[in-house]
Amino acid sequence: MSCIFCRIVKGEIAAEVVAKDDRTLAFLDVSPLADGHVLVVPRAHVALLEDLAPEDVHALFAAVARLAGPAREAAAAEGSTVGINNGPATGQTVPHVHVHIVPRRSGDGGGTVHSIFRPRPTRPVEDVARDIRRLAGS
Ligand code: AMP
Ligand code: ZN
Repeated sequence: MSCIFCRIVKGEIAAEVVAKDDRTLAFLDVSPLADGHVLVVPRAHVALLEDLAPEDVHALFAAVARLAGPAREAAAAEGSTVGINNGPATGQTVPHVHVHIVPRRSGDGGGTVHSIFRPRPTRPVEDVARDIRRLAGS
């Protein structure tokens, strides 16, 4: 198994672990974007969020919510940006689902989630909404 996060989950590679439960592990990013930059991963090796089992989704987001406050407080920050690069096209470099928690403070020079994008919608929103509802079975 060459997945670096699986190897961290198994304890084969050292990491600064900050929390764990039976479905998730949380550790500090080795190249932190800020003090307290935490990665939360499911123990299961799954590349994309949409392919995670519902129990892992619940455990993952519960862990993220549980750690957002401690990460912010440990960094003496004011908030956090929480994000997932979900798929290679988004810049995901490790194909094992991971949620970034990056503590933030006003004036830190970082942008918002919106700043990642150059808006270029091509279709009316109602058409896209209809397709998503159909595909999601909503
Ligand atoms: P992403 O670009 O969303 O796939 O982010 C992958 C993240 O994993 C990057 O922020 C890396 O710094 C981080 N990373 C890679 N290897 C390790 C490691 N061995 N321990 C902790 N974090 C890592
Ligand atoms: Zn993995």
